[in-house]
Amino acid sequence: MTVTERKPVGDLLTELSLRCQSCGAPYAGNARGEILTCTYCGTSQRIVDARQFLDHFMAQVNAFVRQAVPPGLDVSRSTTIDPVARLAAFNSSVRPRLSTESDQYRISCFNLLSSSLAVLPFSPIAQLSAGVDPATVSIFAAKVQSVSGLAVDDASRELLNRAGGLASCYQSLLVAVRLSSGAQPERFHLISQNYSTASDAIASTGRWSPLAIRLTGLKEEAQAVDLLLSGRELAESRRLLGAAGRDLGEARSLLSATPELGYMVAAVDQELATVRTVGSMLNIVENSPSVAPHPLHYIQRLAGVLDWLAQAGPSEWAPTFRSAKLREETFRRAAEVRGAQAGRGSVKVILAGTGTLVPFWVVELPYTFETGALWAKRGKEVPEILLVAATFPSDVSSLRGRGTARVLTDIFGPAASGHTLVKYSNKVRGREQKISESGGLIPILQNAALSPIEGQQAIPPLTTEAEALRLVQLYIEGVKLDNPKVAAQLRASSPRILDLVYVPCIIHVSPPIAWLGPLSPATVGDPQVLLGFIS
Ligand SMILES: [Zn+2]
Repeated sequence: MTVTERKPVGDLLTELSLRCQSCGAPYAGNARGEILTCTYCGTSQRIVDARQFLDHFMAQVNAFVRQAVPPGLDVSRSTTIDPVARLAAFNSSVRPRLSTESDQYRISCFNLLSSSLAVLPFSPIAQLSAGVDPATVSIFAAKVQSVSGLAVDDASRELLNRAGGLASCYQSLLVAVRLSSGAQPERFHLISQNYSTASDAIASTGRWSPLAIRLTGLKEEAQAVDLLLSGRELAESRRLLGAAGRDLGEARSLLSATPELGYMVAAVDQELATVRTVGSMLNIVENSPSVAPHPLHYIQRLAGVLDWLAQAGPSEWAPTFRSAKLREETFRRAAEVRGAQAGRGSVKVILAGTGTLVPFWVVELPYTFETGALWAKRGKEVPEILLVAATFPSDVSSLRGRGTARVLTDIFGPAASGHTLVKYSNKVRGREQKISESGGLIPILQNAALSPIEGQQAIPPLTTEAEALRLVQLYIEGVKLDNPKVAAQLRASSPRILDLVYVPCIIHVSPPIAWLGPLSPATVGDPQVLLGFIS
């Protein structure tokens, strides 16, 4: 073994460019005066601070090399010199030091990848995994690079390759997740840069190729959002979304066939739902540019209300409002109703009364009740109809207990069994005996028709069928608790959604649907929240 003069490793590292002290990424040149702006995280900093960070960065890498590499081995020299000594040093000292840290980063990185990482405009990526500083991970990647001169056999090179690629991928993902909750207008462009780097980094390991495809899909999705928000090149945005959908779809099928990574499939499903949500946003921007409020304000309002509900609602509802599926369906229906408002397409409307069009779920509630008087204690199957305001969560008090009765046609409530309505409903539907009173709703609903609503004010639904059914179940539980007589008679119920119809409402007045009389819901939601969708 030739002992050479120990060379400071710093010589190797001074060739590294300056680095961003915020995320650890190298600068790609282009200083403006004394200020550098990072092309990965967008942070601006003084050159002198970046230099200081590079000193810190190099000190850590040098300390690692001093510990891991025996004195006398020059890691910067050709690997053909002293191959035996290099291999021995690598296996005895470098490998154990790097393996442990690399394994930790792989676990953390894959843990991050088990969540959906698709970005939505105006909403941060949920369950942000804070903690690890991307700059720390970039130092590890540099440590890996610093000992590449010791990797003289395939196994060593493979280890370094994998450790470096994983660290670089993880660092970029951390920066992207951090950016998603930030406020920089250019963050979607920066996020796409990071996903692009992460994809290349994971591809460079020669393993986990489904992840490289997934990250490419995420890059395309972020690029599409960037263009959507800028309001230009909408056709290009749509093309990128199409590519994102195809890549994520391919990644999904490859992941589901890879046992090691199969647990990521659910996250990719959410990412695909997010791609479809962005597609609906694009429809809103393209199809209803002249409907008030401005399409981007409208999108921001809808995303903001759903985010707010995940925070403000009862905790048992929070996962619902965070779900990608709720967002997908809500934005799809919002695009539909905005299109109809702009004269493109139509929605189902009950043509009665005047006011702002508010969406309602039409719910069929078959139930049996038992009566001794008329049916000789036989169960009687009765179909009943409920109207549930699809905007109900905006009145947070409707999400539990007796509040549920406020946002639907309270057919079991005291008002409904009032004399006037009983008379009215008997007249409408003959003399069937029921314990609930939905009055003349059935013939009215039969008159609901697809209708163009150009120029009319309308609110989008804030719920899907699942939330409406959940609310009805809570309502029935409340009815049984409050009314033992009904509870004794009521046998079973399995509500079913029949339709979504728009009903003219005066949303800041109670009751909002005057012609429904005592059956009108007390509210269709918080007027403060709902009015934001029409002005
Ligand atoms: Zn940075």
